[in-house]
Amino acid sequence: MRNALDQLLLPAECLLCRALLPFRDSQRVVCDVCRHRWRPVRAPWCGRCGQPEPLFGRCRLCADWPAALVLARSAVWLDAGARAAVHALKYRGLPRIAADLASAMASLDPPGLAAAWLVPVPLGPGRLRERGYNQSDCLARALSRRWNRPVVELLVRTRDTATQTALTPEARLANVAGAFRVRSGECGMRSEDRPRDSALRIPHSALERPLILVDDVFTTGATLAEAARALERAGARTVLAVTFGRAVVPDFT
Ligand SMILES: [Zn+2]
Ligand SMILES: [Zn+2]
Repeated sequence: MRNALDQLLLPAECLLCRALLPFRDSQRVVCDVCRHRWRPVRAPWCGRCGQPEPLFGRCRLCADWPAALVLARSAVWLDAGARAAVHALKYRGLPRIAADLASAMASLDPPGLAAAWLVPVPLGPGRLRERGYNQSDCLARALSRRWNRPVVELLVRTRDTATQTALTPEARLANVAGAFRVRSGECGMRSEDRPRDSALRIPHSALERPLILVDDVFTTGATLAEAARALERAGARTVLAVTFGRAVVPDFT
């Protein structure tokens, strides 16, 4: 219903360049040309956090990550077009754009995907009320359709955290410290997402699987590391993370 309304209200034109979308792409929000302009993040990178390797010495970005967080990858660099797409997803009430973003993320193909569950990074209660949806949840659900893996809302954010944009790496860590906890009960799964295998309903066995955190943007990785820490404390052994965008130049290095 919501989609049908969107379709009526919004002309089928690309959100970024305003070109008219061909009829077959009328479900899309971003045209092919704009999507091809998104610049993929490519190797050489730190094998763990996916950041371009420093010229000298070891990567410091992921040095303090919890052991369970073994890999993080992002689809594209967050320069102008990609940033506008994320902005639309978060602030312009366009969760439909998640499908376009997920199409760029699908090729990330993280190891262990065949058995993995997708875990959206949750929003705090205040922000969720304000926005009406969680953009990471929209991305996870769009990816779930491509990867055919279930979305499991294992995490809750216990408090609203200040926006990370203007913070130094240290302040970012402090800002999100202790902000997540693992949901009890049936992992917060909606009944239609619950795997048929009844053994999987036990939260404990969920923690044996690779869990893939899904978020919109990777800047310093502080949020993902903290979310992984909560999963690790609850017994998860392997946590991976995928994001659509990666900050072009970390704000602080
Ligand atoms: Zn376009
Ligand atoms: Zn690293």
